[in-house]
Amino acid sequence: MKEKLFRAIDDRRDDLVALTADLIRFPTINPPGEAYTPCAEYIGDRLKKSGFGVEYVRGVGTPGDTDRYPRTNVTARFDGRSPGPTVHFNSHIDVVEAGDGWTVDPFAGTVKDGRVYGRGACDMKGGLAASIIAVEAFMAVFPDFPGAIEISGTVDEESGGYGGVAYLAEKGYFSKPRVDHVIIPEPLNKDRICLGHRGVWWAEIETRGSIAHGSMPFLGDSAIRHMSAVLAAFEDELFPALDRKQTKMPVVPEGARRSTMNINSIHGGQTEDFRPGLPAPNVPDSCRTVIDRRFLLEESIDDVKAEVTSILDRLKSERPKFDYSINDLFEVQPNMTDRDAPVVTAVAEGIREIFGKEPDYVISPGTYDQKHVARIGHLFDCIAYGPGILDLAHRPDEWVGIDDMVESAKVMAIGLDVLLRGAGRS
Ligand SMILES: [Zn+2]
Repeated sequence: MKEKLFRAIDDRRDDLVALTADLIRFPTINPPGEAYTPCAEYIGDRLKKSGFGVEYVRGVGTPGDTDRYPRTNVTARFDGRSPGPTVHFNSHIDVVEAGDGWTVDPFAGTVKDGRVYGRGACDMKGGLAASIIAVEAFMAVFPDFPGAIEISGTVDEESGGYGGVAYLAEKGYFSKPRVDHVIIPEPLNKDRICLGHRGVWWAEIETRGSIAHGSMPFLGDSAIRHMSAVLAAFEDELFPALDRKQTKMPVVPEGARRSTMNINSIHGGQTEDFRPGLPAPNVPDSCRTVIDRRFLLEESIDDVKAEVTSILDRLKSERPKFDYSINDLFEVQPNMTDRDAPVVTAVAEGIREIFGKEPDYVISPGTYDQKHVARIGHLFDCIAYGPGILDLAHRPDEWVGIDDMVESAKVMAIGLDVLLRGAGRS
């Protein structure tokens, strides 16, 4: 039976390439959210032909949603002949801007040397196409399968997913009993299973002072000097402490297998827009910085925040006239699906079968739409698994390998077989 399934996928190779190229030709650039509706309709029309019930759900009122740039999501469902679990394949249809340095047209869907080129080829239209082919082949070989299959094409992943997976999750599209298992075909490499991601805390810290003439700074109080005391304490205490926090999470690349913090921006005093004139001499009365802290399963978000505020509070008690405020901007809990969760063992079986090796289990350093499936949908049987090479995402001359897509479609089809038909289980 497996041979029949593999042959059904091999027979669809040209279809897979054409589908990937067609998807790339929709320039679904985010921001602003270009061409979402025609791309969603293309996916919906295709899945309708395969027998799916198709719905379009607009993320009304979500960031960036306007009549010019509607946040159009497509979600499709096919119910098998008898009851059973539901497997959902979720792909984002948005891509980042092309940028410079391309040697091919980023939105032509060029096919050459066994690859499909274009913005989104790897992240993640190749993964979306592979999942559609896997599902169509599975349905053709096993028309009597129990349970249900869903496929969604969602928007805005690259900008947080609020008009896409988050919006759908709030409406129940990513919760039991509707859905049991979720596979997100992000480009994590064809023989790796991504179990989740680290946590995120973004915050803005402001130090305050008082304005005075720059020739007599002793009459004022420099907010920038206060902030430099904060940064010095971060250098001396916080960064070394973060480096020491190793995790059991198998984060790739390995440099991210610990706590990290980026100082995202810093601004104090007058803006730069005095040019082409000259600045005025002022002591800065405000300095603001945005920090981007990535944290681990072993840490609680309260501890992560307290690490920073304890430094700020100590400065307040030690340093004359020091005062600060801190605002949370964004937070995401870390996430790691169990290695023995059903969706993990099902896809692992596919990887063993196709590549003759154990899968690598990895964790993403940054977040992706799994966060919404877990936090809003309360669905934890979720992974990312897809064909593209992670390092090619967002770069010029992005491509996806045709053999890689075919092989990972076979892995997905075996995953479906295990989850829906119980294949491989004793
Ligand atoms: Zn992506």
